Amino acid sequence: TISPLIAGNWKMNGLFHSLDELTELAQLLTTGEAPRAVVVVCPPATLVAAVANQGASSGILAGGQDCHAQGSGAHTGDISATMLADAGAQFVIVGHSERRADHGETDAQVCAKAEAAIGAGLKPIICVGETEAQRDSGSAESVVNEQLAASIPNAAEHHDVIIAYEPIWAIGTGRTPTNEEIAQMHANIRARLVERFGERGESFRILYGGSLKPHNAREILAIDHVNGGLVGGASLLAKDFYTIISAV
Ligand code: 13P
Repeated sequence: TISPLIAGNWKMNGLFHSLDELTELAQLLTTGEAPRAVVVVCPPATLVAAVANQGASSGILAGGQDCHAQGSGAHTGDISATMLADAGAQFVIVGHSERRADHGETDAQVCAKAEAAIGAGLKPIICVGETEAQRDSGSAESVVNEQLAASIPNAAEHHDVIIAYEPIWAIGTGRTPTNEEIAQMHANIRARLVERFGERGESFRILYGGSLKPHNAREILAIDHVNGGLVGGASLLAKDFYTIISAV
């Protein structure tokens, strides 16, 4: 069985005082019932080391939100997987739809980033998901399958990778697919992973992301092949994020 994982993606939110929320989350996690999920917080790069340090005693793990495919070099403004690992991160999100859209990242680039992450000892959280137009035209599965085929490195055969299914139209909108649609997509992703990686494909976590909130977390996280969640907005408030973690 797969241990569930809940990751918070702070996106471009969070200043040093946001670490108060982390302190509150740590308190909730250590005073309440022990969480059944692995808890990850992916803050902006400026706070990765602080999250890794402050989270350690309460089991909160740190992750980055993106990494360069190279380990170092002349790439002004970029950050490498090696640097994230050096700062204490254990995970890194790659191929988030906001990076694919804002920075034109291709599947091949996402794949190279995931490979770099693995090389640096990080677990990549590889994001896939369709637009609303693609879902409406009935091509959600084929779009996601293409992203999966081209974004997951072959190294996943020997290392842990995490897949996050995030329908783009559900991100930050308060809308989500129906439970049936989520179940169908996650089963499809599982089938593709097993097709490509054999038995190992059964062990990869497949997270759901997109308007995962305290009020819908329990039912969504109970769906077959939903092995946790990638939470945006609701991860910024400790109380909300804790409610989602507790829904596992
Ligand atoms: P929201 O939870 O704010 O919809 O964001 C989801 C997301 O993009 C997480 O990576």
